[in-house]
Amino acid sequence: MNDCIFCKIVKGDIPCFKVYEDEKFLGFLDIKPLNPGNSLLITKEHYRWVYDVPGFGNYWEAAKKLALATQKVVRSNSINFLTLGYEVPHAHIRIVPRFENDGHIDGIRTTAIKQIPKEEMKQIAEKINKITSG
Ligand SMILES: [Zn+2]
Repeated sequence: MNDCIFCKIVKGDIPCFKVYEDEKFLGFLDIKPLNPGNSLLITKEHYRWVYDVPGFGNYWEAAKKLALATQKVVRSNSINFLTLGYEVPHAHIRIVPRFENDGHIDGIRTTAIKQIPKEEMKQIAEKINKITSG
């Protein structure tokens, strides 16, 4: 889709901090992170919803791979997966590392955005990408 921001990221028209890539999926850090290491795993082709994606199981296997790599890098207690799908109308799994006292309490507060310097984002992304592509 021409005016879809995620399709533009896939095409390389918009830069991203890449954390995962295979034939079908692309992962990158969320520029409005809910915690350090928060990434989005999207399909390279445009689908509206996560459940529209062919190979739903493969999609989640990729999400798991990215989550485990992320956990290693940012040393989170756990990882949450969010698939609300409202902000951008292109299938995405939001991968959110969780920490003690991270401001999200029992759920995820989608407004609790963290300020993380670009340089730190870049370093986190490079470390995760090294694991997921290795
Ligand atoms: Zn799209």
